[in-house]
Amino acid sequence: MPRRTTRGEAEKRLEKYRAKRDFATSPEPADATHRRSSRRKKPIFCVQKHLATQLHYDFRLEHAGVLLSWAVPKGPSLNPDDKRLAMHVEDHPLDYADFEGVIPEGYGAGIVMLWDKGTWEPENGNVDKALEKGELKFRLDGTKLKGSWVLVRTGRDRSWLLIKHRDDWAGEIDVTEVAPDSVKSFGDFADILAQEKPDVWKSHMPARGGASGALLRKVIAEAAEKIAQREKHGPARKSAGRRRRKESGR
Ligand code: MN
Repeated sequence: MPRRTTRGEAEKRLEKYRAKRDFATSPEPADATHRRSSRRKKPIFCVQKHLATQLHYDFRLEHAGVLLSWAVPKGPSLNPDDKRLAMHVEDHPLDYADFEGVIPEGYGAGIVMLWDKGTWEPENGNVDKALEKGELKFRLDGTKLKGSWVLVRTGRDRSWLLIKHRDDWAGEIDVTEVAPDSVKSFGDFADILAQEKPDVWKSHMPARGGASGALLRKVIAEAAEKIAQREKHGPARKSAGRRRRKESGR
């Protein structure tokens, strides 16, 4: 069972998160207000694929009323021989576990896709002690990621390694390649962007250079094409898009 925490405690842990963002322009959740489903016994985890200045995967584990967060540049690997760098970043609100959308400007500007979601449980007892020690063993039960994993701190800075343990859920397939899409909207980055305005970054693209810049340009072009198709095929598709947006609470 997750440790009980007060709203105030969680709010305090989110100070850094809030300080970095302007919620007048960012669609991201702002505070620790979250209603836990009474049927849910295990804490949640999620992975967000985030096309920002650099493409990366944000790995988040629910603990103490917030989401502990690590930015994983290459994303998780099912191969136990791969040690994926995971930079420990600021705690995020629990509601972030459902977030998917376009951040038009400011911190994290780009496209956020909910790439995986499920529940997790620690395998080496007390989570706070494991974090302090720099070795957190846990099991994931998500759509894409399952089985036993470990996060190990490499030094005194914020860098950790995310490693898959050898079990039935380990393997050689590249999970980011074979399962690239959203577990929420089931589409890709272009589908998410096409729900909004593909010209959102007319003057100020979040990623310009390198592989991430090239990917973003491709995604923008694809989103524009999807919107053009939608408009050509009349208002039925358009209202479906609006309905989807309404359901996702925006
Ligand atoms: Mn991120």
